[in-house]
Amino acid sequence: MAFSIILPENVKRIIKTLETAGFEAYAVGGCVRDALLKRVPQDWDITTSALPEEVKRLFPRTVDTGIEHGTVTIMRGQEGYEVTTYRIDGKYEDCRHPDSVTFTRSLKEDLLRRDFTINAMAYNESTGLVDLFGGIEDLQAGIIRAVGNPTERFSEDALRILRAVRFAAQLGFTIEPETKKAMKTLSGNLRVVSAERIREELTKLIGSDHPEELFEARDLGITADWLPEWDLMCETLQENVHHIYDVAHHTAETIRGLHQTEEYQNASAKEQAMLNYTMLLHDCAKPQCKTFDENGQAHFKGHAKPGATLAREVLRRLKCDNETVDSCTKLICYHDTLYRRHGEEPEVTVRFLMNRIGTERMPFLFAVFTADAGAKAPQYLAGCMRRIELLREAYRKVVSEGHCVNLKMLAVNGADLMALGYPAGPELGEVLNELLEDVLLTPEHNTKEYLLKKAKR
Ligand code: ATP
Ligand code: MG
Repeated sequence: MAFSIILPENVKRIIKTLETAGFEAYAVGGCVRDALLKRVPQDWDITTSALPEEVKRLFPRTVDTGIEHGTVTIMRGQEGYEVTTYRIDGKYEDCRHPDSVTFTRSLKEDLLRRDFTINAMAYNESTGLVDLFGGIEDLQAGIIRAVGNPTERFSEDALRILRAVRFAAQLGFTIEPETKKAMKTLSGNLRVVSAERIREELTKLIGSDHPEELFEARDLGITADWLPEWDLMCETLQENVHHIYDVAHHTAETIRGLHQTEEYQNASAKEQAMLNYTMLLHDCAKPQCKTFDENGQAHFKGHAKPGATLAREVLRRLKCDNETVDSCTKLICYHDTLYRRHGEEPEVTVRFLMNRIGTERMPFLFAVFTADAGAKAPQYLAGCMRRIELLREAYRKVVSEGHCVNLKMLAVNGADLMALGYPAGPELGEVLNELLEDVLLTPEHNTKEYLLKKAKR
C-alpha cells in the first residue's frame, strides 16, 4: 500500500463499527488531502454507504446536523465527527444548491460530486486510498483541478470558483488551465451565492500563507461583485516616497507581515480573522482620497476615517458579526496614528488610543502598526519600528501605573457634578468628557480635588 494515513483512534473506531455492521465507511475529502500533505486536518469527515437512520442506530450519541443532506454528527467525548451518507446531488438550477440530494450505495458517485481532485479521495485501513480522478498526482504536482468537466462543475455551484483560489492560497498550488478558464467565464455567477459562504472562503484565503492569491481572484473576476474595493486598490498607484507598492500589493504585504507578529500568532481564530480583514481593508479608501501636490507626489490625506466607514460597509456586506465589524473599523480608523501623531509624547498618544479603541484592542493595534510599517519603503522601516517600540514601552507604563483612559477610571462622575449644581442631562456627559481629555494629557490631574475645581469654573 503506497499511501498510508494515520487515522485518529475515534475515526478508526467509527469506521470499524460501520464496517462490522456490513457498511462501507471512509475518511474523505479535506482530511485525506491534508493528511497526505502532512498538514493537520481541521476536522475528520467520514463518508458511508449507511443511511442516516442506519448510522444513528449504531451509535449511542448522535446529533442530526444536516440530516436531510445525510449528515449525522457522532459524538466521542467532547469531539464530534460528521458522518455523511454517500450521495448524489440533484440538478443545480440556481448556481448554488442542488434541488435535491439522493443517497447512493456507491462511493464513486459520492466522490464524483466533490469539487476538486485533491478533495475527492477517500481512505480507510481495509481498502487503503481510493483515488479515482488522479488526486494523488495533482497533490504531488501542486494542482487544483475540477473533478470532471469544470464548466459543468462551476455552473452547478459558483462558490467552487472562489474555493479554487482559496485552496491555491492555502496550499501554494496552481490552478489547472482548463479549470481556470471555466472560472473566468463563470465568475459572474458568484453574485448569487450567499454572503456567509463567500465570507467563509474569503476568510480562509486571507488567513493563508498566500494572500496574494487575491490578485488571481481579481484577474478572474471573482472579487468584482463581493469586493470591488479590492479591484480599485489594484488600480491605485501610491506614487510617493513612502511607498514602493501600489495599494493592493502594499495591502497583501501587510497581511503577510501581520501573520509574523506575535500578537497575531497568539490570537484566537476569530481575532485572527478580524485582524486579516483589518489589514485587507486598512487602506481601502486610498483610491478615493488620492491627490497630487505640485511636485507630483501623491497624497492620501485623511484616508483612515473614510476607510473605516467603507470597511464597515464591506464587512456588513459579508455579514460579519458586530464585534468583528467594531474592532476592524476602530483599528482602521487609527491605523495611521503612528504618523499622524508623530512628535507627540508617546504616553499621550497611547492614552488617547486606549481611550478611542478600547484598552483590550491595543495589542492588535500594535500588530497593525508593525504589519503596515513592514510594507512601506524600506528606508522608513527603522524609524517606524523605533516609534512603535516607544509606544509599546509607554503602553506598558500606562497600564502598570493605572493611568485613567476612560470615564470609568475618571476620579469624578455625574453625581459629583450634580452635587456642584450641574443639572442632570446631556451636558453632564460633555463636561465629563472634557475633564477626561484633560486627564488623558496629564494623568496627575485625575484627582477629585483638581477635577471638581476645574468643573466649578
Ligand atoms: P477545510 O480544511 O478548509 O475544511 P475541506 O476540503 O475539508 O477544507 P470543506 O468545506 O470542509 O473543505 O468540505 C469538505 C469536503 O466536501 C471537501 O473536501 C469536498 O470534497 C467537499 N465539498 C465541500 N464544498 C463543496 C462544494 N461547494 N462543491 C463540491 N464539493 C464540496
Ligand atoms: Mg473540512
